[in-house]
Amino acid sequence: MIHSKYLAATSGGLQIPPAISTTPSEVVSLTEPSEILDLLFRFVHPRSEADNFRQSSVMNMASDTFFPLAEAAEKYQVFGAINTCFTRLDQLIKQHPIEVLNHSHRHGYLDIADQAAIETIALPLDKITKGLTHPGLLQQWLLHYIHWRNLAAFGSTLLDDCPSPTNGCTVWPKIKTNYFTAVMGNLWGNDFVLDCHQQPCTAREPYGHRDVCRCSNNIQEAQKKITLEKLNIPNFRSINI
Ligand SMILES: [Zn+2]
Ligand SMILES: [Zn+2]
Repeated sequence: MIHSKYLAATSGGLQIPPAISTTPSEVVSLTEPSEILDLLFRFVHPRSEADNFRQSSVMNMASDTFFPLAEAAEKYQVFGAINTCFTRLDQLIKQHPIEVLNHSHRHGYLDIADQAAIETIALPLDKITKGLTHPGLLQQWLLHYIHWRNLAAFGSTLLDDCPSPTNGCTVWPKIKTNYFTAVMGNLWGNDFVLDCHQQPCTAREPYGHRDVCRCSNNIQEAQKKITLEKLNIPNFRSINI
């Protein structure tokens, strides 16, 4: 075995994993780079004084080292490493949602998968396709994504012309354009807000002094409706393929 020096060096720590089933659609690496095993090995030795070091090294680890380590930890069932990686996984949801979703789905961390899935909605589809390698995950993602696209379409129905007593609203057309640009460009997702710090509306009633355009009100109302509808989107875990 390639890793026999590691496996032999510990009593009951690293185990040779049971046969790993692969499907043609997923490549499971059977060998880890030695630097990943070196990292993993630190969790096997019972060196309590090294706990803080191990913790902080994982917390500051670059993602291209972290995810292979987390995978190796699961594969060899190194519980100290699994726990530490789990904490870090939670922190990487916003930064690396695709990788987090792939890993958490594969290992049954459903809460994290639910959160990560929401963060993937506005990401480029080619990255999604390449990143979600676990069998069935991409199908599940697509079915979840459809719910979000339907919500995006619902939002667009709220953006007809500003129903205000005055003409010449200077804000509403920009809100609309921003919205449709985001939806068309697949940049629309959970974090999208209608009001992106527009300049105040300059529309005025012909002879009045007050700003009577209701656009800011209308924006808030539309945002509220979208936020409410979001609650109807099922959690990622409950999507059946
Ligand atoms: Zn206005
Ligand atoms: Zn804003």
